[in-house]
Amino acid sequence: MQAPTGGEDLLLLEAPDDDLAIGLALMNRLARSVDVKTEYDGGADWSHLTPTDLDICILRLRQSTFGNHVVSDVRCRAAGCGEQIDISFGIDQYIGHHIPTRAAFRGRGWTAEPAEEPGSFRLTSATTVRKDAPPAVDVASTSRANTCPSVDKVGVLFRLPTIADLMAVAGLADADEELARKCIRGLVSVRQRRLVETAMEAIAPSLTHDLQGVCPECGAEVRVLFDPRRYCLGELRDRAAFIYQDIDVLAHRYHWTESDIVALPRIRRMNYAEAARQEGPRSG
Ligand SMILES: [Zn+2]
Repeated sequence: MQAPTGGEDLLLLEAPDDDLAIGLALMNRLARSVDVKTEYDGGADWSHLTPTDLDICILRLRQSTFGNHVVSDVRCRAAGCGEQIDISFGIDQYIGHHIPTRAAFRGRGWTAEPAEEPGSFRLTSATTVRKDAPPAVDVASTSRANTCPSVDKVGVLFRLPTIADLMAVAGLADADEELARKCIRGLVSVRQRRLVETAMEAIAPSLTHDLQGVCPECGAEVRVLFDPRRYCLGELRDRAAFIYQDIDVLAHRYHWTESDIVALPRIRRMNYAEAARQEGPRSG
C-alpha cells in the first residue's frame, strides 16, 4: 500500500456517493501486487477481487491512518436506559475473527473445492475430500456412500462474485439472479443455489457483522451493525475534509500550486499546514 496523498482525499470527498466504487478506486490507486516488481504507475485494476478482499484492504488503510483501535459509540436501546456505550475492538482482531476456515463446512456433508479452472470451485461431498487429494475432485467417479445426491450428480461449478460483478448488476431489478447467472455454471435447483451461496459466504465471508457488548448501566445486551466499508470510508472522509483548508493555508504561505499540494503525502501536508497555521501567513 502506498501512503495516501491529497488525491485520495479529494476522491473521498468529491466522487459520487458509492462506497464500492470509491473503495475500488482507492485500492487501484494505493495497492499494488508484491509479485509485480515493476515501478508502480498507479494503473492497477483490482475489480477481479471479491468485496471481502476490498473490505480487508479498506480496514488496513484505516488501520495505517488511525491505528488498530476502533471505538464506536452507541446508545443502549433497553427501555428506560439510553446509556451511551463505547464498543471498542481491534482491526487485527476483527479480521482474524473473519478469516475463512474449513470449519465453516464441518458437519454439512458437502464442501467446496477449487476446480480445474482457475478461480472456480466445485461443490462436492465432504467424504470425497482427502488431504492428499488433488484440489479438483471428479465427484462422478467417487464413492456414493454418505453423499449428498443433489450436489454430486451435477457437481455444481461456481466462482466467487467479484467487485466487477457487483458493479455490473448494481441497480438491476433482478440483481441477485443476474449475479447467480454470472457466477454459477449451468442450471441449478433452488437447493443447489442455496448451497452455492452458503459456500461463497464460507470462502469469502461478508465482513459486515453485528458487534456485541453489554450495557454497563442496565446489563442489557447491545448489538450494533458494523459495516467496515461504510464506517472506515466515513472516518477517512471526515479527516479528508481538511484538505481544502490545508490547500488554502499552504498556497498562501508558500505559494505552491494546488496540484503540488495535492500530490504531497497526506501526513506531510497536514504537518506543513499545522505549522503554517501556528505561525500565520508569511509576508511578501
Ligand atoms: Zn442500558
